[in-house]
Amino acid sequence: MSIAQQLHEVWNQLPDRTRLVAVSKFHPLTVIREAYDAGQRIFGESRVQELVTKYEELPGNIIWHFIGHLQTNKVKYIVPVIDMIESVDSLHLLREIDLQGRKFNRRVHVLLQIHIAAEETKFGFTFDECRQLLLSGEVRKMKNVCVCGLMGMATFTENQSLIRTEFAGLADFFKKIKQEFFENDPEFREISMGMSDDYLLAIEEGSTLVRIGSKLFGQRI
Ligand SMILES: *Cc1c(COP(=O)(O)O)cnc(C)c1O
Repeated sequence: MSIAQQLHEVWNQLPDRTRLVAVSKFHPLTVIREAYDAGQRIFGESRVQELVTKYEELPGNIIWHFIGHLQTNKVKYIVPVIDMIESVDSLHLLREIDLQGRKFNRRVHVLLQIHIAAEETKFGFTFDECRQLLLSGEVRKMKNVCVCGLMGMATFTENQSLIRTEFAGLADFFKKIKQEFFENDPEFREISMGMSDDYLLAIEEGSTLVRIGSKLFGQRI
């Protein structure tokens, strides 16, 4: 199937509340352009330099989401170009995003990355760490950061019921956090979960953003 055909297949599977982030990391400009020409607008990248280069070469109305592990010293390069940082995994990083947001006169949209997988290797807050962070009140005072929701990655496994349980757990935690800290904040609304192999499960469990790479673009080089 062509990229356009793959995109249409995914778009047709999305309920109204869910949007597609086309994960274009490690793929060349031509591939992104093909998806763009088919009508895709939100793209996800996981490396700072790669994102900045692509941003400079491609149409200005592309919406870029940063989805990779972000080093504090690189925040300044992406704040002027991205629409959302989905992978915020420490208070330290959040402070730097707020600082750079002020410098560039932007209110940066972010998601807090939650560690929901059984593997040790994935980044993110535990549920408890996330709640403690919000309880401290510091986040609320950050004028140049907008916390728009949560992001999580399920365990890399064939075990569908484990994946479903992890997604359901994230959706449930989102509801609790929403009630406790963001009840009157319509901007806190995103649950980013679901990748090429598990996005249909994620949608069933309430995902609002699916991040899909290899299904659209093939294996990364
Ligand atoms: C690479 C990546 C994806 C896309 O993964 P696929 O399995 O290729 O769909 C989604 N989310 C994050 C955080 C990633 O790093």
